[in-house]
Amino acid sequence: MSTLLTGGCQCGAVRYALDQQPQNVHVCHCRMCQKAVGGPFAIICPVQKTAFRVTRGTLSYFKSSDIARRGFCNVCGTPLTFDYPDADDLGVLVGTLDEPDRAPPENQYGNESRVSGTRD
Ligand SMILES: [Zn+2]
Ligand SMILES: [Zn+2]
Repeated sequence: MSTLLTGGCQCGAVRYALDQQPQNVHVCHCRMCQKAVGGPFAIICPVQKTAFRVTRGTLSYFKSSDIARRGFCNVCGTPLTFDYPDADDLGVLVGTLDEPDRAPPENQYGNESRVSGTRD
């Protein structure tokens, strides 16, 4: 496995590496993402779970619904991931990448809850 992208939380306790090129990076305006990141939208980079490696510390999980959970740093609270435990892929929050520019969003989801002032 060769590391393509790296990232981590704000305090540095949790670090991760991605071994896969991001695909279908998207901006999500849904209410769940707004609450999860405390902002008007989240930018999510989907990768295969086998291509996501925590390289320092451990992710803590918040069960955000019956089927989904969000991974975060329990020291600084930075949200890092979103996934369905049964799925093969997970979403990495692009703002936590060391180089977010390398995962530019291609799509916009959850437009029904889009906050005014965040339009293109
Ligand atoms: Zn942290
Ligand atoms: Zn969302």
